[in-house]
Amino acid sequence: MKIYIDGKYYEKNEAKISVFDHGFLYGDGVFEGIRAYSGRIFKLKEHIERLYKSAKAIMLDIKMPPEEMEKKVLEAYKVNKREDAYIRLVISRGAGDLGVNPFLCKIPSLVIIVDEIQLYSKEFYENGISVITSSLRRISPESFDVRIKSLNYLNNSLAKIEAANAGCMEAIMLNQNGFVAECTGDNIFIFSGGVLMTPGTTENVLEGITRNFVLEIAQRYGINSIEKQLTQYDLYTADECFLTGTGAELVPVTKIDGRLIGNGNPGKETKKLIEIFHKEIRKR
Ligand code: PMP
Repeated sequence: MKIYIDGKYYEKNEAKISVFDHGFLYGDGVFEGIRAYSGRIFKLKEHIERLYKSAKAIMLDIKMPPEEMEKKVLEAYKVNKREDAYIRLVISRGAGDLGVNPFLCKIPSLVIIVDEIQLYSKEFYENGISVITSSLRRISPESFDVRIKSLNYLNNSLAKIEAANAGCMEAIMLNQNGFVAECTGDNIFIFSGGVLMTPGTTENVLEGITRNFVLEIAQRYGINSIEKQLTQYDLYTADECFLTGTGAELVPVTKIDGRLIGNGNPGKETKKLIEIFHKEIRKR
């Protein structure tokens, strides 16, 4: 594995950045998780666009135009000679001193890792996963907008710990108003009465690339879909539920807080959508 750091490639055990980097000290930075399928990077433009928006929101000057960043990601992907891959693109604030002041960090660090990822084993994609609702609320825009895909994941990690302690793979996070936001690393969808539903982007959710792609294919395949506020009641009484993310792709949810979703098996519409998703990503 060749890891790109600030203009050079390093072997995995040689790939290191400064302990004074504010990405390490304070979680100050932004990132993207990107997939490549069959020799092509999926939705690269969309990922780069989100990265630059995240960077802009935190006043991090990437010092490189987006077109050049795209080229760097493509180059790192090529260098690593993988057909299917999971690419982690990280831009941290860079090395500064031990104080929080981001403006003392003069040069951001750019890291590109081309690897693989398997968040859930095959059996979970076939049988579905159990999730809980976390007691922790998703960070609200009063703190920062979680559309910023930042390196600051403690809110998510703590909810994930809660899920693990309850023997679950994921946790649903509500927003500050008690409406469903998303999971710790995935967006959430339900099917209810034949309609596909997901919380809107103003509900404290990351605007997932996979989420948007699912809405795009729903439209193309004539599946009725809507972005709307959802409560726990909506989830418990849904016919079907599934999560989306670059790492997870589409994974069915069959139990939430002890309640079986539908008949407790992955739903028919969900399975159909998963099939379409896999067909579409390989087609591009
Ligand atoms: N929400 C959160 C909190 C995430 O970290 C992610 C990415 N892992 C997602 C949603 C899904 O986003 P995407 O489809 O762009 O990977």
